[in-house]
Amino acid sequence: NEGIGSWPARRARKTPHRTALIHQRTDGHRSFSYADLHDRSTRLAHVLHARGVRRGDRVAHLGPNHPSFLETLFASGLLGAVFVPLNTRLAMPEIAYQLADSGARILIHHPSVHGTTDNAPGTTLTTALDLLEVGPDYEAALAAAPAATIDEPVSPDDVCIIMYTSGTTGRPKGAMLTHANLVWNAVNVLIDQDLAADERALVSAPLFHTAGLNMLTLPVLLKGGTCVLVESFDPDSTFDLVEEHRITFMFGVPTMYDLMARHPRWPTADLSTMRHLSCGGAPVPTGLIETYQRRGLTFQQGYGMTEAAPGTLFLAAEHSVAKAGTAGVPHFFSDVAVVGPDGEPVPVGELGEVQVRGPHVMPGYWGLPAESAEAFRDGWFRTGDMARVDADGFVSIVDRLKDMIISGGENIYPAEVEDALLAHPDVVECAVIGVGDARWGEVPRAVVVVRDDAKAEPEEILASLTGRLAKYKIPKSLVVAAELPRTASGKLVKPRVRALYGTQDS
Ligand code: ATP
Ligand code: MG
Repeated sequence: NEGIGSWPARRARKTPHRTALIHQRTDGHRSFSYADLHDRSTRLAHVLHARGVRRGDRVAHLGPNHPSFLETLFASGLLGAVFVPLNTRLAMPEIAYQLADSGARILIHHPSVHGTTDNAPGTTLTTALDLLEVGPDYEAALAAAPAATIDEPVSPDDVCIIMYTSGTTGRPKGAMLTHANLVWNAVNVLIDQDLAADERALVSAPLFHTAGLNMLTLPVLLKGGTCVLVESFDPDSTFDLVEEHRITFMFGVPTMYDLMARHPRWPTADLSTMRHLSCGGAPVPTGLIETYQRRGLTFQQGYGMTEAAPGTLFLAAEHSVAKAGTAGVPHFFSDVAVVGPDGEPVPVGELGEVQVRGPHVMPGYWGLPAESAEAFRDGWFRTGDMARVDADGFVSIVDRLKDMIISGGENIYPAEVEDALLAHPDVVECAVIGVGDARWGEVPRAVVVVRDDAKAEPEEILASLTGRLAKYKIPKSLVVAAELPRTASGKLVKPRVRALYGTQDS
């Protein structure tokens, strides 16, 4: 077995007694050594096999961070089956869609899931699926299963995971990630973050997202470190856990690090063991970089996407100040090109679309041959993100191509306008979209959520942009909204903003 299903056995051969996982619960924690992880994953593979799971079949998991997530991944990998992690924050119809789309044969689910999804009370999963609930049933099934070695041939190019994209620009697509894709991504992380065997990672980012799994947990397990699994993030318990487990590595989005820095315990918490503060999904604001710097902590920032498993660009700690605002340079085994519409690289400083190529990039989307073909050009994956490259090769992500507004022949990237709007003290959240205009084709419109005690009139908010932005970039209208539509992972859903606010007069 050359797939990642063999990892627990390989680690158990080298470091059987080292702690692989610590499952942190409110009432204490339970530790699993690499020998335990190997034993439990093997038994689960026997359980799945007895329930009919064979090579290529899909095995879904729905639940918060828990050892069962990783056991299901490794057990599927042992059988040559395909793991399908589902997002607990999705509504039930969205989960049902992903189960049906992936054609899952069995669902391993956590009992708490019904409380964590947005589904209407009383709705259940009405699929003809085989179900196994994490808890006493799951433990009994493992205990009753054989622990005999499973020797199913699995090749690095077999599909290991179908992971759905976040659905920010449309319906989530199932990215097929091979065993090799996951290994090369983990190798990139190990090289570029210089991870050690004694890493102790705090896994509070969800495992069902590419970042929590691939940028944090899998590299640490490959190297033989320890992952502390917690169900959700909150700053207070993060400080407790960092001190209790002497955490060296965590991954978060900028908001999580901001919440920690604003917490009363920030000045006194012992963070001296933290070597790797990994951050991705959005650029880290300069103020936050400085706040952490004053405590001797630097960020390692990244840019990536589900389809690239996901690590693509990486900004090492040593560049985090000088190159703040950029997403860095490509990972070791990754190639990135910023190209014009003809597919040729654009000159330094000019805007182009980011393309990525490398052994970590997916072969295609599950069941979507047309979308898969369109996603690649001459072997390069087209990310749909616009960026510019500086003279040193550092790439700055600007916005998504799909969100670009064309006004009187000028391109407007909403992210730039949104940043300027957010500088206004009354603006809490905002989205900038294009609306039809007889003269200019399209003009920008701002949709903003203002503070409860906001004093400024819409015209004053717009007037504050004068001098900060070129005139054509300043929204011609502003709509105040109570809230903005977001995905389960908190990303703004622009198509929905356009549907809600793009047509009404204002
Ligand atoms: P969908 O593809 O379904 O529309 P999505 O693109 O949001 O959803 P993900 O794969 O979770 O799904 O997110 C990848 C995207 O997130 C990237 O293409 C990019 O737009 C954005 N992103 C990731 N990291 C960064 C970063 N450091 N800076 C700016 N944007 C980022
Ligand atoms: Mg995407």
